[in-house]
Amino acid sequence: MTRRRLVLFALLTAVACAQSRSSKEVDSAFPEAKAFYLDLHQNPELSSHETQTASKLATRLRAAGYDVTEHVGGTGIVAILKNGAGPTIMLRTELDALPVEEKTGLPYASKVHAKDDAGHDVPVMHACGHDVHMASLLATAEIMARSRNTWHGTLMLIGQPAEETIGGAKAMVSDGLFARFPKPDVAVALHVGNELPAGMVSITPGIYNTNADSIRITIYGKGGHGAAPHTTVDPIVIAARTILDFQTIVAREIKPGEMGVVTVGYVHAGTKNNIIPDEAEMGLTVRTYKQEVRQQILASIARITKAEAAAANAPREPAIDRYEGADAVYNDPKLAERLRAPLEAALGKGNVVIEGPISPSEDFSVFVEQGVPGFYFSLGGADPEKYSQAKASGTHLPSNHSPFFAPDVDPALHTGITAEVAVLRNLLNTSPEELHKLAATRQP
Ligand SMILES: [Zn+2]
Ligand SMILES: [Zn+2]
Repeated sequence: MTRRRLVLFALLTAVACAQSRSSKEVDSAFPEAKAFYLDLHQNPELSSHETQTASKLATRLRAAGYDVTEHVGGTGIVAILKNGAGPTIMLRTELDALPVEEKTGLPYASKVHAKDDAGHDVPVMHACGHDVHMASLLATAEIMARSRNTWHGTLMLIGQPAEETIGGAKAMVSDGLFARFPKPDVAVALHVGNELPAGMVSITPGIYNTNADSIRITIYGKGGHGAAPHTTVDPIVIAARTILDFQTIVAREIKPGEMGVVTVGYVHAGTKNNIIPDEAEMGLTVRTYKQEVRQQILASIARITKAEAAAANAPREPAIDRYEGADAVYNDPKLAERLRAPLEAALGKGNVVIEGPISPSEDFSVFVEQGVPGFYFSLGGADPEKYSQAKASGTHLPSNHSPFFAPDVDPALHTGITAEVAVLRNLLNTSPEELHKLAATRQP
């Protein structure tokens, strides 16, 4: 063998060894993780009501040797494992399910109903795959606890409530997540979906998803008889003009190529055909990648809304209420690039791909905003065969939140555990100083 061949052989052997070690330890933790998944899937709980879910996860993490604190920011849990000097790395899972009626037809489909916050009876389903995330985190926790000779530092696992209602991350931070517990040097999370076949993961350096803003606009007019419009100021006509004007924001005001969505999701006004109402209300969702584009769109919405009301001689300026907002999740590009190698070593080179940003939003950004660099990546959940069929026929598999969302659990869970362990081990073999040098939390 030539020297080059020898080096190549040694490298390939090292990769193969790492893969087989990871596969053996994942295999041994898998049955319990799968059983936990099936239990969680059949017993989903709505956002902020994840009491049984949190308690089950807390019990198992305690049994694995973690120091567990419950009720952090509501039903949130924090599990800490200290293993000498080194960085603190956080891994997060969500705990909540959705008010969706499961129609997958699976033998373990959810039949659960619960009361929502308005007191309505609703079906409940893990339609976003948070059960996969919890099961994966549990197996990862066990593997990391059993292999303390392979890493050093502090491992901090969190179970976050109310991700779907964009409130849980904030509640945990407000309840002292980074004050009562160590503030991590890096925070890690993954999300399963059907955009990628099971067995694969994707990394998105930079912006991972969108800023999301929810806006409620109330336009004030002057009501009256439908047959006497001259005695009124019709808020429905103002609303109609305003909505049409909104369509020019992205088309005419935003620089071509920049991402921006302005959707009016509802308009409510009036009670009867011959009555001009006093007011009209509409609800908007605004999605952007960049802060500057976000500010520009929000300013345009306010300007157009006020101008249309003034043009119609409305008696009062409209009320514009931005009642909910989530910032885009930002992955530091250098950190993402660094973690590509251990993921490729653990999963195989072809199973790690680079993808562009996606449009749903999520509150993992709250942790990043506290000055904690984040690595948020995607886990393939699609049955590989169904994935190829859908691709070939130009159709889409059911997305997250669909009543038909059914990840191919065995390979997805196996890959999730393998990926999490690989990422954590890499980070927990790096000095905090090196991690600080590497990562920037803010988008440039
Ligand atoms: Zn979701
Ligand atoms: Zn989700």
